Amino acid sequence: MAISKIEWTESTWNPVTGCTKISSGCKNCYAERMAKRLNMMGQLNYANGFQVTLHEHVLEYPLRWKKPRTIFVNSMSDLFHEQVSDSFIYKIFDIMKQAYWHQFQILTKRSSRLIELASRLDWQKNVWIGVSVENEAAKFRIDDLKWVPAAIRFLSLEPLLGPLASLNLSNIDWVIVGGESGPGARPMKEEWVIQIKEQCIEQNVPFFFKQWGGINKNKTGRLLEGRTWDAMPIKLVDLEEEIEHNKSLHLTAIPLRSIAAGELGR
Ligand code: SF4
Repeated sequence: MAISKIEWTESTWNPVTGCTKISSGCKNCYAERMAKRLNMMGQLNYANGFQVTLHEHVLEYPLRWKKPRTIFVNSMSDLFHEQVSDSFIYKIFDIMKQAYWHQFQILTKRSSRLIELASRLDWQKNVWIGVSVENEAAKFRIDDLKWVPAAIRFLSLEPLLGPLASLNLSNIDWVIVGGESGPGARPMKEEWVIQIKEQCIEQNVPFFFKQWGGINKNKTGRLLEGRTWDAMPIKLVDLEEEIEHNKSLHLTAIPLRSIAAGELGR
């Protein structure tokens, strides 16, 4: 299992590696940089560098990981890339269904293919789906995401490259914001982040501030207005346990949205 340094997940699982650039958010793609490095190091899964490659032998890994984890699916690719066959995507969904004790997070920029396939995929409650939105031009992905019948729909506004005003966050359960990091990182203005945070608070959506980014992200850190912002949607497994516990105490169950909003830390 690959332990992830990404602030909003625990592990990564990469049955697909490699990708091609699709919008301005891809310019300094971290996965591309890493794939080249791993290729130079002789890692077999990266023998094709950053070309899209499907790894059948990796499919069953989550079934072997017995301890429940939050798993980011395809951190080194985009699951809905046109070169990933429908049948391979079905296999990935089947594994996520079998590995019901894990929480899976999928993130894509290919929201058109996502909605094309969405009605044919088995959206178990342990599968979260998100889209990346880096600027106004990519906002259409949010509307596409709302068609997907997943338990949790989230936005990754990273690398944030411009202001995102008038966000309609209805049916969105979580918002992550982050600046670009690494060589050539493009700047992110504080006012853009605050504007998004305010919209999340107004619309009762959990807000997670990942990082300022920059060439050395450890230097710039992840404080916004003097504090961290780590709200997450409650895991549905936890919610069910809570509902059962409340029933035994003859209390009324609290709806998911209210619990999530309570984590906003206001
Ligand atoms: S979609 Fe993601 S993985 Fe693919 S090139 Fe763009 S940033 Fe990289």
